[in-house]
Amino acid sequence: MSRPTIHIIGAGIAGLAAAVDLERTGVRIVVHEAAKQAGGRCRSYFDQRLGMEIDNGNHLMVSANKNALAYIKAIGAQDRLTYFTDAHFDFVDLRSSERWTIAPWRGPLPLWRLGALRPRAAEYSDVMKLIFSRDDRPLRDIMRCEGPLYEKLIRPLLLAALNTEPAEASSELARNLLRETLLRGEAHCRPIMIREGLSGALVDPALRLLERHKVELRFGRRLQALCLERNRVAALQFEDQTIDLSPLDLVILATPASVTAALAPGMNAPAEFNTIVNAHYAVAPSAALAPITAVTGATTEWLFAYPNCLSVTVSAANRLLARDPQDLACEIWREVAQIAGLNGDLPPWRIIKEKRATFAATPEQNKRRPATRTALTNLLVAGDWTATGLPATIEGAVTSGFSAAREARLLLAADQCATPSSKEGKTFAHADHG
Ligand SMILES: Cc1cc2nc3c(=O)[nH]c(=O)nc-3n(C[C@H](O)[C@H](O)[C@H](O)COP(=O)(O)OP(=O)(O)OC[C@H]3O[C@@H](n4cnc5c(N)ncnc54)[C@H](O)[C@@H]3O)c2cc1C
Repeated sequence: MSRPTIHIIGAGIAGLAAAVDLERTGVRIVVHEAAKQAGGRCRSYFDQRLGMEIDNGNHLMVSANKNALAYIKAIGAQDRLTYFTDAHFDFVDLRSSERWTIAPWRGPLPLWRLGALRPRAAEYSDVMKLIFSRDDRPLRDIMRCEGPLYEKLIRPLLLAALNTEPAEASSELARNLLRETLLRGEAHCRPIMIREGLSGALVDPALRLLERHKVELRFGRRLQALCLERNRVAALQFEDQTIDLSPLDLVILATPASVTAALAPGMNAPAEFNTIVNAHYAVAPSAALAPITAVTGATTEWLFAYPNCLSVTVSAANRLLARDPQDLACEIWREVAQIAGLNGDLPPWRIIKEKRATFAATPEQNKRRPATRTALTNLLVAGDWTATGLPATIEGAVTSGFSAAREARLLLAADQCATPSSKEGKTFAHADHG
């Protein structure tokens, strides 16, 4: 019997994580990617106007992202990231010029020094209502979305992580996030910054690993249709080729929600998406500027200081889609100059509007996220939009890829047991990333 093949469609972080996790199982793996490069929504490119490589968007991780860190370890890219040694966050409000820092309390309990916020007892009890809530409703139905603790800590963090106005967002996703981070204490909230490019840190090392292990990487190959036969995928149809699948072959669709919904009949998937806007300025920050500053009372929400570039992220930014890029660049630059203590003319800039950056993390859209296994026996799905219980983040994408890899191993093992002629004795044990 020939070796089974796992076809992974899509070389974003979810598809790459699945391939990396499966690469040691001994099956043949082929990754088909529609674009000329890997990385999907998490990639770098050379920007002619700025004269430097930039990311499609600033990506922040935290030390609680255990699957993302396992992926980074598996691809040998730990040295490509900057790990903060403690979890303090610098904030500034541009309306009042007030500055504050949120930092961990040094002690055994996950308590936080909230500085000038001085939350009232009622605000703590609101957060507890969220933590102990069970169902999934808009956050505003569970807790009061107001007051210093909410405005100056909870809202900025949730807005960044959920890419959705927190008051309207899924209480389940908000709860899961807070439980994994703030509530677990300082060691789980340390920021991790990708300073030297998303592709260099999260994508290229994975491609090199996969190439070394003879995983076939095919770029510029858009899957156009799944050919179905009874309850399985019988063939994959690309523009210039149709690949017939053997009975043991598997398919992992690691494509965006809308593509997967169009390819797989009856697939439930989020149908509403939110924009993220990034503004990059080719200017070196002063040494005094914090690497990451959270901003309230302005269009700017997070300011990232890289060695030769200042970069701003604005989440849930659908309202900015129609804005003239030059106007927006000027408006955000005035804010950046104020925060960074810079004077002078607008430096070379680039505005990137990622219209469908992530699914809208509302309860309605959260309910539409499908499990890894599908009604088709040899089809699995992965992607940050699948039912991971996490928001659409690198951690969510990697988790979905690992979950697809785990299910693929189970299906292959079950097929091996059911196939008497298969005597190769291969095992499909879970690759240990710990
Ligand atoms: C601007 C921005 C900022 C972000 N900031 C953060 C952050 O700070 N922290 C964080 O953790 N996350 C952040 N994210 C989210 C993170 O980037 C995503 O969650 C993650 O990259 C999603 O990966 P994925 O593999 O699920 O999907 P995708 O990246 O969308 O990958 C899908 C792949 O499938 C390919 N494809 C599509 N159709 C086909 C087809 N028919 N055939 C073959 N291939 C196909 C696509 O080309 C793509 O490569 C941000 C996202 C954006 C856009």
